[in-house]
Amino acid sequence: MKGNRVYADNAATTRPFPEAILAAKAALEDYYNPSAIYENAGRARRILSSSRALIAELVGAEEDEIFFTSGGSESNNLALFGAAAALPPEKRHIVAGEIEHSSILEPLKRLEKEGFRVTLLKPDARGGYDPEEILRALPEDTGIFTLMTAQNEVGTVEPVEEIGPALRERGIFFHTDAVQSVGHLETGVKKSGVSSLSASAHKFGGIKGAGFLFLRRGTPFLPPFSGGGQEKGLRPGTENVPGIAAMAAALSRAEKTRESEEKRLWEYQKRLDKAILSLPGARKTGEGERRLPGLLSYYFEGIDSEALVHALDLFGVDAAAGAACRGGKREENPVLRALGLSGGGALRLSLGWDTGEEDIRLLEEKIPRAVRLLRET
Ligand SMILES: *Cc1c(COP(=O)(O)O)cnc(C)c1O
Repeated sequence: MKGNRVYADNAATTRPFPEAILAAKAALEDYYNPSAIYENAGRARRILSSSRALIAELVGAEEDEIFFTSGGSESNNLALFGAAAALPPEKRHIVAGEIEHSSILEPLKRLEKEGFRVTLLKPDARGGYDPEEILRALPEDTGIFTLMTAQNEVGTVEPVEEIGPALRERGIFFHTDAVQSVGHLETGVKKSGVSSLSASAHKFGGIKGAGFLFLRRGTPFLPPFSGGGQEKGLRPGTENVPGIAAMAAALSRAEKTRESEEKRLWEYQKRLDKAILSLPGARKTGEGERRLPGLLSYYFEGIDSEALVHALDLFGVDAAAGAACRGGKREENPVLRALGLSGGGALRLSLGWDTGEEDIRLLEEKIPRAVRLLRET
């Protein structure tokens, strides 16, 4: 709840954890430039190093494999441009999932203009991929493969861990956009074998403008930015110390409560499914079981997505039809199109750590009311 409204758009951004706000406030007091050499600057430097150590431990990485960025979009751009620039000429072929976030698909369009070959793989009707099929589909000259860990609009969890080790063996740079999964599903970069992974603090109870890129030690990489030597020259620029401190505190809290949260949100999801799927013309999109906890995605025949989101807004519910980054653009939803759905409306409800009983009760009541209203008009 937020005031007397229900907030059900946690896939767009989450409420910061109290721990994250406290950590950011403390870091704002130690406002020194972490690169300065006087003793006080050491305080800011220590915040960075302890945050890096904590994040590395929580995702199963080494400290020197964590690079701070401004968030998910930057991490994705950095990974793709940095890895592409380091590809040998015979491997300039990049393969990606078709329903990736725009901060993957748009950089790929640029790389294609620059002469790289780009191939997008079609997902199945769940918005997922069969691991064996991916491995078979990747051509010999594949230099980079990129697949999100969990899909941000339909919640499907992709088979990153299943294909990671094989891709590593074949010498393919494997990037995963894990912005939706970090802090919500277990993250283990050692086990998954990925070359790089993107995360964004504001999607797991941190604050906006902070994220990180995991980049495996020894991976060929030519950073696209230049400037000061921060982040070992990989991502120059004075670090966002308060945002980074908040990110470490948020990830720590998210990991501590992850399993109990998964169970709690799963129960809520069952209740909402029951209330919504009994409506005529309603169906669920994405995967049934292998999905992000708390991300629910529905499709209603003959209803306009935007009209539904507006009706819910009037009823006191903040929800989305799809990714916020496409918000405002009135065009066909490319994710739904990829899943073979058209002529209807999508609704994404994404629950979070501050979603409670009362929110669910209100959603159970208001969503059917909004859908019925639209069917009558
Ligand atoms: C939100 C999101 C991003 C972008 O992260 P920002 O930190 O907002 O730039 C990238 N990928 C996915 C899957 C997301 O959900």
